[in-house]
Amino acid sequence: MHFSDVVVEHIDDQQFKNNDVRLNVLRLDKIHPVVSGNKWFKLKYYLQQAVEEKYASVATFGGAFSNHILAAAYACNKLHIKSIGFIRGEEPQHYSQTLLDAQALGMQLEFVSREAYQNKREIIQSNDELYFIPEGGYGSTGVKGAKEITQLVTDLSTYNYIVCAVGTGTMLSGIILNAFPQQECIGISVMKNNLSLQEEINSLLNSKDRGKFKLLHNYHFGGYAKHTTALIDFMNYMWAEHYLPLDFVYTAKALFAVYDLLKKKYFKPTSKILFIHSGGLQGNRSLKKRTL
Ligand SMILES: *Cc1c(COP(=O)(O)O)cnc(C)c1O
Repeated sequence: MHFSDVVVEHIDDQQFKNNDVRLNVLRLDKIHPVVSGNKWFKLKYYLQQAVEEKYASVATFGGAFSNHILAAAYACNKLHIKSIGFIRGEEPQHYSQTLLDAQALGMQLEFVSREAYQNKREIIQSNDELYFIPEGGYGSTGVKGAKEITQLVTDLSTYNYIVCAVGTGTMLSGIILNAFPQQECIGISVMKNNLSLQEEINSLLNSKDRGKFKLLHNYHFGGYAKHTTALIDFMNYMWAEHYLPLDFVYTAKALFAVYDLLKKKYFKPTSKILFIHSGGLQGNRSLKKRTL
């Protein structure tokens, strides 16, 4: 892991200059080429607890392209703990690159039908020798680690807006808890109509921080892990113009939203935006060759 490689980069883009707005990106994707991003932070205290409580194996849940599954497999491999991934859906004939990598890191893969996957509690109860990390690291233990993300930014107080992609909202919760009172935290939901998110995030916050964030639901590009040509064009633009690699599931949608909000004059002139690049680049391997 290369936490020292995490930097805040300025995106020198004429569109932002024209509006007198400054855009900086926290490059969590630089932590590791495959297992990058926010997942490390969210896993950290769950794994610490598993070790302290002397569990021999850690288990968690995710889909066939899940960044969380791969990060968990990698972290458990490093810690020499056995890992088990309960994967949503029947066993595929051809494993995704994500699953192949997780397996190569020693993770035992258990495929569960979509119905059984809905009922995770049953899986947890019938495997009480395993330490279970919730799907996506959702929970207060995940938030505790996510709070450390913005601690990497030495001039955090100088930003007016902090923007990140939202799946479970665990990362956003950590950011909100660490934000300064004058800052606006904006989360871009990557799922379609995931309207329970507001409450799920509030339940991770203490009463003083509840509701002190904005969730935007109109940048899902068709739904979770769906994409459009506009999104792919934007990813190619960011790479060609700014050498900024984005993943199509999370960070491309969230940064597209930042550009769109800029066009709509959402950001105050002279303000400064911190965009969290939460990693996830390994997921792009599921795109057809030559898309990017
Ligand atoms: C998992 C993930 C997210 C979402 O994080 P949550 O804490 O679940 O909201 C965002 N970006 C990337 C790249 C991710 O892998």
